[in-house]
Amino acid sequence: MTQTSSVTPAPFIFDVQAREVRARAGVFHTPHGDIPTPVFAPVGTQATVKAVTPAQLNELGVDLILSNTYHLYLRPGDELVAKLGGLHRFMNWDRPILTDSGGFQVFSLTGIRKIDEDGVTFKSHIDGSMHRFTPEKSIAVQENLGADIIMAFDECAMPHDREYSQRAMVRTHAWAERCLHAKARSDQALFGIVQGGVFPDLRKQSAEFITSLGLPGYAIGGLSVGETKADMHAALEVVDGILPEDKPRYLMGVGTPEDLVNGVLRGIDIFDCVLPTRLARHNAVMTRSMGRLNLVNAVYAEDPQPIDGACTCYTCQHYARGYLRHLIIAKEMLAATLLSIHNIHTLVQLAGDMRQAILEERFCAFAADCLVNSKQGSK
Ligand SMILES: [Zn+2]
Repeated sequence: MTQTSSVTPAPFIFDVQAREVRARAGVFHTPHGDIPTPVFAPVGTQATVKAVTPAQLNELGVDLILSNTYHLYLRPGDELVAKLGGLHRFMNWDRPILTDSGGFQVFSLTGIRKIDEDGVTFKSHIDGSMHRFTPEKSIAVQENLGADIIMAFDECAMPHDREYSQRAMVRTHAWAERCLHAKARSDQALFGIVQGGVFPDLRKQSAEFITSLGLPGYAIGGLSVGETKADMHAALEVVDGILPEDKPRYLMGVGTPEDLVNGVLRGIDIFDCVLPTRLARHNAVMTRSMGRLNLVNAVYAEDPQPIDGACTCYTCQHYARGYLRHLIIAKEMLAATLLSIHNIHTLVQLAGDMRQAILEERFCAFAADCLVNSKQGSK
């Protein structure tokens, strides 16, 4: 599947190959290769997926990674990344990359940011220096970074505050138009972001406005930020009927096995999350049938089994839980690498298995099995 870099501007066409109820299997074409969907993208916040090399990501079958505009803008600076050949060359990853707009991080800086209609002024978490992001600035930074998929600058509100959600949504719409207007590179696909909190009428209004911009893909933002699963599912169901069938749909920041299955059941194609690598650094592993395990627990000290007997990842093929626990207790760096490999594999493999099930018209049964297993595993 690996393709070399191409100088031809990409059409950013999304081919839907099969559907089963709301689930879709497709391929999104980008200048750095095809992304088969559903797809899970691990996060490389600082132009590196923590503790994992690009060669290992390739081996894991990763088709897309996400990198953070806010972090790279502050350090080392987007202009430096551009000088060193853009993000793909900078981090030695020649497959597709998606950058977020910086909005989510900037709006998370409670107390050290000020929002107005034109943009956001914020204080760097690194050295306290003052900076300003506008829609135009976010696009300029993302053009310097050079990812295949770039995101419109949006405001992620507290999901239950109706008045704030509405204000943020209106601003997000105006900013999406400005991003589209500011965008100059033809080899990057700009995705719009639907906001609206947990309010179905706002979600509907937002989906209608954002899709009217005719963009090559759409994201659903402002979820997985503290709302209930039922609210998340309801929001996905509202926008499902509005988002065009022939464009990819990206559920931002979502990454447990059950969330992936529930998302695909509701028409989602793309997911990203820091969870697999963050859990790994906290000694935890995710599995499809046993829920989460924390390998630091003494019960694993003499355990000769792999993390998951059904898993085909490098870690599970070669290492016992007892060895992994030893690495954790001894504070060896390899622990983070081996646990990250397993966690990323779990989600990438799940996305691939869902894709195969949709292509073979057996996704509904597959999803039901996954959800029963994950419920039993979390008991
Ligand atoms: Zn494994």
